[in-house]
Parts: sequence; structure tokens; C-alpha cells
Amino acid sequence: MTDTFSQKQRSEIMKAVKSKGNKSTEVKLIEIFKSHHITGWRRNSNLIGHPDFVFPQKRIALFTDGCFWHGHNCRNLIPSNNAEYWEKKIKRNKTRDKVITKELSQKGWKVIRIWECEIKKGKIQKLIATNLFSGGESGTTKNA
Ligand SMILES: [Zn+2]
Repeated sequence: MTDTFSQKQRSEIMKAVKSKGNKSTEVKLIEIFKSHHITGWRRNSNLIGHPDFVFPQKRIALFTDGCFWHGHNCRNLIPSNNAEYWEKKIKRNKTRDKVITKELSQKGWKVIRIWECEIKKGKIQKLIATNLFSGGESGTTKNA
């Protein structure tokens, strides 16, 4: 089923893995893009906060947030040992996330944040909601 990647796509994925260490969530997301024919994404953006993916033509900045580091309530993994230290760190990340989202929005970017656990489960409603799936960079003006 997933054996439909071309040689070029494979090497893109491998590059993606190497550039930031083994980020399996990003690779999974790339697979989702491919399988839904979502194109126009770029990696390694120099935008504020370094979004994991950007869609320059649609002005969409996409972040994949690790559930632990960004404080998702899907699990309660804060080690009881040194809890205060971790909570502080995670709180700081969350504050930073908000600031980045706000700054990008002010510059006209639509910011999407997808949790690691959502990607792993293939829950991509957030992507569907942004019309990434509607395709056609040029905008279709077909009259039915
Ligand atoms: Zn989560």
C-alpha cells in the first residue's frame, strides 16, 4: 500500500529524517501529504519559530508539536521526580508557541499546530479544515 513512493520521494524523506535527527512524526506527515496529493510544502523554513513545514503559496505554517515538550494533555508523562523543573520547561515552550503563533498570524500566515499523537493516529482533521486537500494552487473557478 505505502509502496508507491518514487525513488526521488524516498530520498526526500530520507533527507527529512537526517536533517533533524529521527523525527518520525514529520516523516509520517510527509507520507500523509503524499497519499492525499498535498503539494507545495517546503521544509527548513527560516520563518519565526522554524515551522516544520510551510506552504508558501497558501501562507500556511505547520508545526508538529511533541506531546511531552509542548504540554499536550493526552498523557501525563511529567516525571514525578523533578516535576517542577519539567513543568517549568514545558510551560516555557507553551508560552513560546503562543508568541510564535501570534507573530506569524500578524504577518498573514495561517498557523496549524498538529500534535505528535494526532499524526501518529493519522488524525488530520486540522489539515482538512484548512483546505489543503482542495488542491489546485491556482484556485478553481469552475461553475457547476
Ligand atoms: Zn498528544
